Amino acid sequence: MTTLNPNDPVTALRSVGEARAALFHRLGLYTVRDVLEHYPRDYMDRSRLSQIADLVPGAVSAVLGVAASDPKVFFTNRRSVVKVKIQDGSGCMEAVWFNQPYIKNVFQKNQTYLLTGQVKEKFQPFDSDGSSPSLLEMQAPDYDIVNGQELLSGGRIVPLYASTGQLSQKMLRKVIFTALQAADAFPDLLPPSLRERFALCPKDQAVRNIHFPESAEKFLLARRRLVFEELLFMALALKRAKSAVKQHSALCFSRFDLDPVLSAFPFALTCGQREALDDILTDLRGGQVMNRLIQGDVGSGKTAVAMTAAYIAIANGTQAAVMAPTEVLARQHLASFQTILQPLGIETAFLTGSLSAAEKRQAHDRIRSGEARMIIGTHALIQKKVEYAGLGLIITDEQHRFGVDQRFSLARKGHAPHVLVMTATPIPRTLALVLYGDLDVSVIRDLPPGRQPVQTYFVSSAYRARIHTFIRKALEEGRQAFVVCPVIEASENNDGALRDVKQYAAELSRVLAGFQVRCLHGKQAFLEKQDIMQAFADNRIHVLVSTTVIEVGIHVPNATIMLIENADRFGLAQLHQLRGRVGRGAEASCCILVSDTKSGVSREKLQAMTQTSDGFALSELDLKARGPGDFFGVRQHGLPDFKIANLYQDMEILREAWDAAQAWDVPRAWDAPQAFPESADASAEIDRIFRGFRGEKNGEKNIVL
Ligand code: ADP
Ligand code: MG
Repeated sequence: MTTLNPNDPVTALRSVGEARAALFHRLGLYTVRDVLEHYPRDYMDRSRLSQIADLVPGAVSAVLGVAASDPKVFFTNRRSVVKVKIQDGSGCMEAVWFNQPYIKNVFQKNQTYLLTGQVKEKFQPFDSDGSSPSLLEMQAPDYDIVNGQELLSGGRIVPLYASTGQLSQKMLRKVIFTALQAADAFPDLLPPSLRERFALCPKDQAVRNIHFPESAEKFLLARRRLVFEELLFMALALKRAKSAVKQHSALCFSRFDLDPVLSAFPFALTCGQREALDDILTDLRGGQVMNRLIQGDVGSGKTAVAMTAAYIAIANGTQAAVMAPTEVLARQHLASFQTILQPLGIETAFLTGSLSAAEKRQAHDRIRSGEARMIIGTHALIQKKVEYAGLGLIITDEQHRFGVDQRFSLARKGHAPHVLVMTATPIPRTLALVLYGDLDVSVIRDLPPGRQPVQTYFVSSAYRARIHTFIRKALEEGRQAFVVCPVIEASENNDGALRDVKQYAAELSRVLAGFQVRCLHGKQAFLEKQDIMQAFADNRIHVLVSTTVIEVGIHVPNATIMLIENADRFGLAQLHQLRGRVGRGAEASCCILVSDTKSGVSREKLQAMTQTSDGFALSELDLKARGPGDFFGVRQHGLPDFKIANLYQDMEILREAWDAAQAWDVPRAWDAPQAFPESADASAEIDRIFRGFRGEKNGEKNIVL
């Protein structure tokens, strides 16, 4: 028997010719390995066989029986119908297929078949022999011919594969089963000691049982093994990414006099801010490149921590850069950094895509000459033409908008700049491991003193008139309000169920006559948005009706109401971010969630918002409800697509795999393959994932530097 080479094209598989290969390609399966790693998306437990006499109408059952006659073919309503009478020792039934005329060539009198399908009871008032008033009929059953070959459609746990219409489950099962038979034993990339420690079955057993489980127990073992391996390799690749950054000899900082900057703040740092700052100072002293994430809820004061770090980098003769995900946020940072740093004699440069060519040139010059010590901007900061005199610290804000690869791009800008990442999105700890496994993490858990909790209400649209009265009252007291809608224009909204920014702004202008109501959304020109934001910050606009563009960054302490329409349309993490826009001043604030949703899950989610202001708790719930794929887009983080692991469901295994990875001497694993037993393939696998982080998937780079 010829054995299969995993790298061969799918046409190397039995019964896969050019035509069928095209169908496999449509599933993204090009090589034998791809097919063997096309794990089932679900299973059907058909391991129990039934006697015909015991069949229950409505239930799906598997029956072993003999064809009592040759198939009958006839037509009704231009549909072909194939019928075969099947009997076993206990009774008889009929199998029926519509519009599958070729079935008649499959069935033959006296041949044995395994049939699986749903049975229905057909009443036959004038049955010819008068013996049975009704007949059991199995419609379009799956079938196997019982002729000594393996049964794949029943009598076992049967896999269900992701497929396209033209590639039937039956065909996929057959091709994969045959491929597994032809394949050599799958080599184990995990050393026996590790398998023993974490109770992992051998790889070969795992692959065979993930496709065709011999039992439920073996399936669970198989899945555990494959999930573990997948997560372990990802952890190792992240660890590699981390040490690749750390390998650079770090800029050596020696001056740590914080007094000038700390005394420039109009407040004392909170405990959480202090602790995060201590972590940073330890990193900067440590001789290795810092690669740290500061995670803190909205309003926890991450900016002050970042400014202090920037000040240290600048005091040590280097430049510091802040990269924000949006223009608006970049401008806010510019304002707050300048307020503190300018009086200390530090020059700032600002660089975003919207500047004029002349402004850009001037910014480039000042960055290259080193005249500007503090540089603030957007993605424009990582463009090729931007040269730095000596970049010592990079701060990226609102991390979840940047992928792992983009962080690498910035890191490659300097010789070996320190990297500080700030995120306001509270991320469940285990997910943070995966998303930021290459970063050290500091968490700011406390909020600056004097913050009032934001009261949150969840109401139906029947309350809208009352809400408008409530807003009017607040405006009369001098406060301001945010209103968030899920869509900009009614046209985006076929059934009219969603509130849109434009119409709602018009409606509120009437209802709140005497006050300035304006809309803000992504389709407006940059300068227009800028003006509107500024006017809102100055209290010249009183009500801002917007999409989620205000989610990130905007800081207006006088705004005390956050009204969110069709609140069920937003994820919990997003709602929490939006809520963080109020409660920033001395006045009591509230967040009103309007939704008429009937969905139990959605109502629970909105209820949770009213009960807790703990971003971490909410993010756990969000992850549970939506899965990590939807959780602000795991894909955007440059993580590999998982073949089998599910980050939420498999958190337990993730923890174990992470422990295993930490214990592993990874840098040596790829420098000296022998440190990773039997590791050439494992090393290649880690390398593949690692290249993915750098945006080198499919030979393309996401960012060219
Ligand atoms: P975020 O973590 O969301 O980026 P910011 O850094 O924007 O939070 O801080 C929110 C507000 O809190 C700002 O107005 C800032 O001046 C203020 N702030 C930050 N730290 C403190 C502190 N220790 N005490 C009082 N106010 C603070
Ligand atoms: Mg911030």
